[in-house]
Amino acid sequence: MKVIDLINANKKTAFSFEILPPLKGTGIEKLYNTIDTLREYDPKYINITTHRSEYTYKDLGNGLFQRDQLRRRPGTVAVAAAIQNKYNIRAVPHILCSGFTREETEYVLLDLQFLGITDLLVLRGDKAKHESVFTPEGNGYFHAIDLQEQINKFNNGIFIDGSKIKTVGTSFSYGVACYPEKHEESPNIDSDIYWLKKKVEAGAEYAVTQLFYDNTKYFSFVDKARKAGISVPIIPGIKPFKKTAQLSMIPKTFKVDLPEALTQEVLKCKNDEQVQQVGIEWCIAQCKELMNYGVPSIHFYTISAVDSIKEVAKTIY
Ligand code: FAD
Repeated sequence: MKVIDLINANKKTAFSFEILPPLKGTGIEKLYNTIDTLREYDPKYINITTHRSEYTYKDLGNGLFQRDQLRRRPGTVAVAAAIQNKYNIRAVPHILCSGFTREETEYVLLDLQFLGITDLLVLRGDKAKHESVFTPEGNGYFHAIDLQEQINKFNNGIFIDGSKIKTVGTSFSYGVACYPEKHEESPNIDSDIYWLKKKVEAGAEYAVTQLFYDNTKYFSFVDKARKAGISVPIIPGIKPFKKTAQLSMIPKTFKVDLPEALTQEVLKCKNDEQVQQVGIEWCIAQCKELMNYGVPSIHFYTISAVDSIKEVAKTIY
């Protein structure tokens, strides 16, 4: 069953989570530990992020620097295959415009189809760290919707050069990203909703939100999306708050606000253990309210938060 069918078939709020491929050279065991910790809560699917390569500069000691390209977290396709085979849980690799040419994307699609991995999250991807504005790779794409078009053509048996695929495999199904507090580059929320609607019309079966800590932002976004005619599931993406440093890091990185009540509770804490407990309690309350609202699924961002998510899942599932 593809992700949208798994979500729709579930009578209760479904559980799913996102993991990152291991840092280059660190092995896959830690990642398996994450899945082993969370699998008892019956994840319907597991997302695996994709990370573009970045430039690194090596000091050659003679006043010169050598520029290299490094992918710190390679292996998305292999990790997806390993998860699907080892755990028999649907794997959803992320597929990006950022850092990939159309040809590279086509080969990724072929690999995934051979491996029986046909659920994707289609994204533009983060810009490279050295860029001030997003720049596509070679003949790559500016926006997720352009990548959707390539995938749709592939599903219809057409390669990017226009030639026909002789043996057409199982079609890819996919979701896309959305931002209850607006994407950082969007002039306003209505513009973001306009493009989300286009992505849905182009074939996205569901949307997963950027993380948020204020449910009213999510409810308002869903309301606007429904009024705009977007009817697909809008899956809340959630990450328990963990340490005081995140008071500035989370707004900076994810372009979201932290509610004043959460901020005040965090500031009262004497150490990060107490902050973690505040984060767990906030997350439980958030999830319970989302469940009462009737969200079909809650998607957890696991990075640095596995233990907290376990505590939350224990209470709400
Ligand atoms: P787009 O849909 O292209 O939207 C980007 C902006 O452009 C928005 O403001 C939108 O309104 C606007 N827009 C969209 N289409 C058009 C158009 N045709 N013309 C003009 N404007 C348009 N990043 C990674 O690098 N790797 C990951 O694995 C990853 N996983 C993520 C998972 C989730 C659930 C989320 C929410 C984000 C993830 N990101 C990831 C980050 C994401 O790639 C960035 O936020 C990126 O800047 C935008 O991606 P997008 O797919 O929303 O882009």
